Amino acid sequence: MSAIKAPRGVRDILPDESWKWAFVLNTTMEIAGNYGYSEIHLPVFEHTELFSRGIGETTDVVEKEMYTFTDRGGRSLTLRPEATASMVRAYLQNKMQNGIQPAKLWCAGPMFRYERPQKGRYRQFWQIDFEALGTSSPMVDVEVISIALDLFNSLGLSNLDVVINSVGCPACRPQYREKLKNYFQNRFNDLCHTCQSRLDRNPLRILDCKNENCREITEEAPDIYSSLCGECKDHFDMVLKGLSSLGIHYQMDKRLVRGLDYYTKTAFEILSGELGAQNAVCGGGRYDNLSEAIGGPDLPGVGFAAGLERIVLIMEQQNCNLGEEPHIDVYVIAAEKDVDVEVMSLVSDLRTAGIKADMDFMCRGMKAQFKSALNKSASHVCIVGGDELSRGVVTVKNLGRSEQSEIARPEVVSFIKQNI
Ligand code: ATP
Ligand code: MG
Repeated sequence: MSAIKAPRGVRDILPDESWKWAFVLNTTMEIAGNYGYSEIHLPVFEHTELFSRGIGETTDVVEKEMYTFTDRGGRSLTLRPEATASMVRAYLQNKMQNGIQPAKLWCAGPMFRYERPQKGRYRQFWQIDFEALGTSSPMVDVEVISIALDLFNSLGLSNLDVVINSVGCPACRPQYREKLKNYFQNRFNDLCHTCQSRLDRNPLRILDCKNENCREITEEAPDIYSSLCGECKDHFDMVLKGLSSLGIHYQMDKRLVRGLDYYTKTAFEILSGELGAQNAVCGGGRYDNLSEAIGGPDLPGVGFAAGLERIVLIMEQQNCNLGEEPHIDVYVIAAEKDVDVEVMSLVSDLRTAGIKADMDFMCRGMKAQFKSALNKSASHVCIVGGDELSRGVVTVKNLGRSEQSEIARPEVVSFIKQNI
């Protein structure tokens, strides 16, 4: 019997990659602070209804992608496929309407979707999520888009496209739905099977079908702009104006409807050519009806979610600075047996002084210990041996300069501190 492996579509983020994630997350935390966003930790599972009602029954996520299970108490729970619905739930449950508005919150963590695994698409993946709840000001939409761009720019990503659209609101979208339905009805036979079934349920989703034929048909489809109500039109105009005033270039795309039903007014994505078929680094928009859909009061909100794996993929491909790979400053080598206690004590003194130190625990020969020192990118090694020990000294070697000297044991820490 072979050892059990992880389920399909999930990955271990190994030490050779995890430090890159930490770099992205630390940068995110800094940017969040600059924009006045506070971190929130949300649960990984919620009542299934939060997502089925919040995201919408006819979306791909709810129809096909959720990890839903019944717990021992007979409740239907779902591993979160995204964070927005949970964020709104947390706002309502914790009465954040009584605090400063808008509540500006961010979080990062794993999301779960039952999808076909491929490059940049996993069944467990991380999202960085920013949401501003409690205001309908179009300037918050602008702020949210500029946070995403600021984050990606700070990480050094280049060649990104901001794509934006308005998806209207319950006052004007039904009209547009009808227009679309009529248009697609006439081309029914040319649509793929999925889109044929979408025609009655959710014709807007046909607009973002990836099928060649459907894409051709949607090119000529009516756009929403002439159907937008006065409020949605004004809102959209203000968002575009705000973006321009910040020097943010964008493309309008009438086919951008996003996969989730809760969007109202602004919908946007940031795309990278580096990602192939999975080209969205982040997606977001306004969702003024989400709160009501999950049984809450009227609560406007806007935000975005960015895929952490995809960010790191692009950064690797574009050779961006990913921060510093973890390393050790000093590796303490035992030159003979039975000096483990002295080695451990020196390592401990170094660590207490804030120096990154490590040692061998495997009783290996000096050569192997030197190799470990190099592997861990140590700039110095200390060699502890019987003869030196009896003289009260330690050999300190600067690996970069191949210099070595004997230092009195009580001076070792301050000597190294001066030299690293
Ligand atoms: P896609 O069109 O690629 O399926 P989406 O519209 O389903 O994306 P959103 O729900 O907007 O994605 O999620 C926001 C971001 O999360 C995406 O832009 C992407 O970077 C990331 N993401 C979504 N699904 C996955 C996944 N299965 N694996 C890795 N990252 C993902
Ligand atoms: Mg998807």
